[in-house]
Amino acid sequence: MITFSDITKTYQDGTTAVEKFNLTVEKGEFMTLIGPSGCGKTTTMKMINRLIDPSEGTIYIDGKPVSDYSIHELRWNIGYVLQQIALFPHMTVQENIQVVPELLKWKKGKTEKRADELLDMVGMDPSIFKKRYPSELSGGQQQRIGVIRALAADPDIVLMDEPFSALDPISREQLQIDIDKLQKEIKKTVVFVTHDMDEALKMSDRICLMKEGSVVQCGSPEQLMKHPQNDFVEEFIGNRQSPWLKSVQEVMKKDVQPVPLQEQENQVTIPAKSTIEDAYALIQSANQTDFPVVNDNQKIVGIVTRDELLHYFYQQEKEGASIL
Ligand code: ADP
Ligand code: MG
Repeated sequence: MITFSDITKTYQDGTTAVEKFNLTVEKGEFMTLIGPSGCGKTTTMKMINRLIDPSEGTIYIDGKPVSDYSIHELRWNIGYVLQQIALFPHMTVQENIQVVPELLKWKKGKTEKRADELLDMVGMDPSIFKKRYPSELSGGQQQRIGVIRALAADPDIVLMDEPFSALDPISREQLQIDIDKLQKEIKKTVVFVTHDMDEALKMSDRICLMKEGSVVQCGSPEQLMKHPQNDFVEEFIGNRQSPWLKSVQEVMKKDVQPVPLQEQENQVTIPAKSTIEDAYALIQSANQTDFPVVNDNQKIVGIVTRDELLHYFYQQEKEGASIL
């Protein structure tokens, strides 16, 4: 667990990069820091492994202030993936991956086995890739090595600062999938920095949206989308919409005559203003297959059937459109 308690960082030239920053990252959580360029993401991240020291406040790892850990302990036990690909050019892939395990004096057999295992995990055949030099890899492959190098010594915490920003869209998506898969298997505490909201929504357990060095809102992707705290959050989320929040009018059959509603006993109708989620809640307990959608004047403007609504849900899940 990582806790930031009232952290402020003012650089020597007087720039306050982080101001009264408070956040707790739970064990095994994938936490994304996001916000406009210059809002203090990198500074916040670098204070975790003491590449930068805060001016005020305390950061705790598992309840102990980071200043009470030795620098080595922090650097070797916290994986760090940089924005720019930063492999050692004169070392092979295998040697690059083994740097930290060797510093930690792991036995040779164990470090080699670990390197192979990690290469397999990201779909790079060790027999093909481990003797290659970084220059013999594509950008996407190099960055994949960057990621597994950070995981090599099996750290509890992994920091990733815009790890995909130097990649083309295809490598980027592949690596997102890799990391997502890895995280499901290994459950590290991850602090991930990005300025790409789509990426954040896809990958995070929680998202911490920053502005001018402070937290604007922190919550699950669902919470941020459904309950943006202010205009800044709303703007940052953009017009991405959860399928649940779409209007029911998008899925209803419209080719019905707007006739006055025949009030039947206990008939459930769906107000035209409803979201799909609202509609779903309304049909739960109803004993009907067809539901009239009605406007404010109680005129029928469409029909949704239970099957269609369920089918719509299923379709969204299948296409991965749902991120809830
Ligand atoms: P982000 O990663 O969100 O883009 P940074 O943490 O890199 O933001 O920077 C936050 C602010 O601190 C910016 O205004 C940046 O110019 C400033 N800054 C970063 N590093 C230094 C430094 N070494 N000295 C002075 N100002 C810095
Ligand atoms: Mg940065």
